[in-house]
Amino acid sequence: MPGYGALYWTERTPASTRPKYPPCRGALMADVVVIGGGLTGAMAACVLARGGLDVIVLEADRVASAGTAAGLGVVVPQPTASFVETSAALGLRAARTAWQTTRSSALDLLASARRLGVRCEALQLPLVAHAPRLEAVIALRREQTARKDAGLAAPWLAPAALESLIGTDTAGGLKLAGAATLDPVRAALGFLRAAEAAGARIFEHSPVRRTTFTRQSARVRLANASIDTGGVYVATARPGALFPQLRRHVRESCTYTVVTEPLVGPMKRETGRRSVLVTEMPGQSPCLRWLKDDRAMFTGAQGPVVGPRQQDKVLVQRTGQLMYELSLRYPAISGLPARWSWVTPVVTTADGLPWIGSHRNHPFHFFAIALGASGDALGWFAAKAALRHFTGAARREDAVFAFTR
Ligand SMILES: Cc1cc2nc3c(=O)[nH]c(=O)nc-3n(C[C@H](O)[C@H](O)[C@H](O)COP(=O)(O)OP(=O)(O)OC[C@H]3O[C@@H](n4cnc5c(N)ncnc54)[C@H](O)[C@@H]3O)c2cc1C
Repeated sequence: MPGYGALYWTERTPASTRPKYPPCRGALMADVVVIGGGLTGAMAACVLARGGLDVIVLEADRVASAGTAAGLGVVVPQPTASFVETSAALGLRAARTAWQTTRSSALDLLASARRLGVRCEALQLPLVAHAPRLEAVIALRREQTARKDAGLAAPWLAPAALESLIGTDTAGGLKLAGAATLDPVRAALGFLRAAEAAGARIFEHSPVRRTTFTRQSARVRLANASIDTGGVYVATARPGALFPQLRRHVRESCTYTVVTEPLVGPMKRETGRRSVLVTEMPGQSPCLRWLKDDRAMFTGAQGPVVGPRQQDKVLVQRTGQLMYELSLRYPAISGLPARWSWVTPVVTTADGLPWIGSHRNHPFHFFAIALGASGDALGWFAAKAALRHFTGAARREDAVFAFTR
């Protein structure tokens, strides 16, 4: 019987080992207020505080508990979009910058986590976008050609070589370098610890009600506190109730994730080398990662956001659907039960690229929202770009994901 709605990543870090932060009270001041204590906010707090800024983090609930705990824990080295479509919409140069920026941020994130002593079990692994059937090869080949023409590495893996890696029928695929796996909850807690060590103040159970601004500064208002600040970093995943004017810029849907019981006996031989991350289209989120204890973590069944009354029923139905899809890929594991399953909110944009940067209607604010399924790499880029923004050292390339693109 799966733990419907229980989050695998949250259960791996027991509540007793997690730091508790107090609620925010009183009148405070800070150079930058980070709204949102997920992985995106945690990385920003760390980068900004270590960059010499006085930082306050405000989390409405518990840190590292929302979307951060519901992802796959894959550092995806590219935006969750098709390169072909992005270059058609924004031009080749912008697309190339977006892809190069995401890849270098993925690598820099891993190196920085190691340097900062963020213990999150980070491990570099190849990511393959494979074509399960011949028809899908055409789209993948088109994507490969476009990337190669733009000078981006995209080696093609022939079916035989790929099949031994992923253990399932395939018509070939693209190998995408620079990906990694990590535990997203431990990563967020680790970056918050590093931020705190650099002087950041962190508050939980502190929902922001409103942000306002004058010509000189911004004010962040909570029920029992207000903070005057020179900068507001918005890491709330979505515009939400705080920025309703920006809601039209994002699209929300839901995907579902299952974690199976551990593979046993011959199942292990029939599932390839399991040292690879798998997606079925280069513009989509990875759909499969194998965990250290021989469990499969599998995600998909994307659909519209469902209301709270429907959620339990839909989760049970989607869990069954995902387990069935997994058994089609790996007949040897058919009958293996799911142990965890949950819903993951997807927040993305019309072109699949995130919103990272300032917005002319919100002076002093810097947004890092709608990160799709590439939140780790893009969140790291956003943190670095925000430090440059708030210290007057922004670069032209930092605008690659801006609202003005
Ligand atoms: C199926 C799926 C798989 C994914 N897998 C991956 C993956 O493998 N790798 C990856 O990089 N990304 C992945 N993602 C994306 C990933 O989930 C997110 O991009 C990212 O982890 C979320 O981190 P976050 O900090 O931006 O958001 P969250 O973790 O959701 O944090 C936002 C926080 O803001 C807080 N907040 C909101 N409003 C307020 C307020 N008014 N006041 C104070 N606090 C507030 C919330 O309580 C929340 O804690 C996946 C997404 C999907 C859909």
